[in-house]
Amino acid sequence: MAGNRTFTMIKPDAVENGHIGAILEQITASGFRIVAMKLTQMTTRDAEEFYAVHKERPFFGELVEFMTRGPIVAAVLEKENAVEDFRTLIGATNPEDAAEGTIRKKYATSLGENAVHGSDSDENAEIEAAFHFAGREHF
Ligand code: GDP
Ligand code: MG
Repeated sequence: MAGNRTFTMIKPDAVENGHIGAILEQITASGFRIVAMKLTQMTTRDAEEFYAVHKERPFFGELVEFMTRGPIVAAVLEKENAVEDFRTLIGATNPEDAAEGTIRKKYATSLGENAVHGSDSDENAEIEAAFHFAGREHF
């Protein structure tokens, strides 16, 4: 991935609330190219593995419950400086702290149900993309 790819999910709250189109529009208008994408639903095991780094946190059960309650859009995005620029585009984890115009500010429901995921490092972007997509699904 060499610094130019990140992984995102449009989370169940944003899918339920009908924001897939608007969020994808903002992502592509911000210069990201979609190189893999699908509508899918995570199983409990998937979510526990994907968020394993948080398994000791008090909100882990709630997070797994939330992330498995409905479909998500998973996607791999390409842009120079993708990880950092995408974290800027989505805004702070808590939408109340997110900057005006960011995706979480506009579409998130709460700290837990915050509309989108964005990888936090190049290494995690690669791990997370591989978790959701086979190599032949990247374009
Ligand atoms: P991110 O990297 O900005 O997504 O934030 P973290 O890695 O810290 O947390 C992962 C995800 O767990 C967040 O995006 C939220 O969906 C959820 N989360 C984080 N903190 C809390 C919390 O205090 N309560 C609940 N219910 N969920 C949380
Ligand atoms: Mg994180």
